Amino acid sequence: MSAVLRAPGEVRFSALPPLALYAHLPWCVRKCPYCDFNSHERADALPEREYVDALVADLEGLLPSVWGRRLRSIFIGGGTPSLFSPESIDRLLAAVRARLPLEPDAEVTLEANPGTAEAGRLRGYRGAGVNRVSLGIQSFNDKKLLALGRIHSADEARRAIEMAQAAFDNVNLDLMYGLPGQTLAEARQDVAEGLRFGTTHLSAYQLTLEPNTVFYRKPPPLPEHDACADMQLAVEELAAAAGFEHYETSAFARPGRRCRHNLNYWEFGDYLGLGAGAHGKLSFADRVTRHERHKQPREYMASAGTVQEKVIAPRELPFEFMLNALRLVQGVPAQMFDERTGLPGSVILRKLEAARGKGLLEEDPLRIRPTHRGRLFLNELLQVFLD
Ligand code: SF4
Repeated sequence: MSAVLRAPGEVRFSALPPLALYAHLPWCVRKCPYCDFNSHERADALPEREYVDALVADLEGLLPSVWGRRLRSIFIGGGTPSLFSPESIDRLLAAVRARLPLEPDAEVTLEANPGTAEAGRLRGYRGAGVNRVSLGIQSFNDKKLLALGRIHSADEARRAIEMAQAAFDNVNLDLMYGLPGQTLAEARQDVAEGLRFGTTHLSAYQLTLEPNTVFYRKPPPLPEHDACADMQLAVEELAAAAGFEHYETSAFARPGRRCRHNLNYWEFGDYLGLGAGAHGKLSFADRVTRHERHKQPREYMASAGTVQEKVIAPRELPFEFMLNALRLVQGVPAQMFDERTGLPGSVILRKLEAARGKGLLEEDPLRIRPTHRGRLFLNELLQVFLD
């Protein structure tokens, strides 16, 4: 029980949400034409030491805001974090552990690109304290990998998975569907092959054209909307048949292997965001804040600290909460709204009723859970919670 008595619209926590840490390493060998992440083509040698120093200074600036709290997970994402040496990752994780206690079973994930994965390097990350690796595979079809501008081949992807499994017992594969010229059979083949490796987690994203990307300016021939919907269904069927639980729009896990770090986002937990362009969210006894950093690595390293912090207006919290929670196939327990927004559940009662009336939420008073229709028409469902 974390929410306490307060005036209407007033945020009040008696217990703060779980805390995670995200560290962004923003460099890649080459920029993929579909990518809108804050990632920058590596020019010369990476300023690993300088950048890790900046991350640690950034963390130190945040410590007064998270005094006495423990980290439930760490996610080192990018960009291509596997461009950083195991020694740099070790230095970063040691610095985090020295400043903020980790829960005993904390999940520590590092994203790796099959084009930069080597057995020795992966073992080095393991030695540094990483206990989960997430591989950006995207496809096992060489033509599709080429069309996506990836730096690895299908065989390199297969080898990287085997090496990752030799070093880690918790491995995620990122796949994409709806690729240029892709047929349903090809999409099925990719997913079936990914599942055959017996990893613990699979993420399958539909390729979308995002502004500020090469694909947005020069769109490749993508499959139609209906064909992509069939591909999503095929992913769901194949993953279920392989014993995976579909727990979020794009995420599938073996029992007990859901990604704790991402679950924390979807359950509106708190997180520190370190690194160029990283975002964070922190709750205090009477408010919820967001913080954001310089996007350009050089500027970030020069400033190494929060560039912008804003308090989320209480009236925006219900929508922000739902934007995350309604991605979860099983939704969330109803009391989680109070616990994670600091607002009384009564502020959304009418909206919950309206969404249930439209058949977009299940008629379960103990859970906030989208119906199948609600998941298909997620935007319509979210609209209900807009202020
Ligand atoms: S490797 Fe990943 S982060 Fe880097 S450009 Fe490609 S999609 Fe973006």
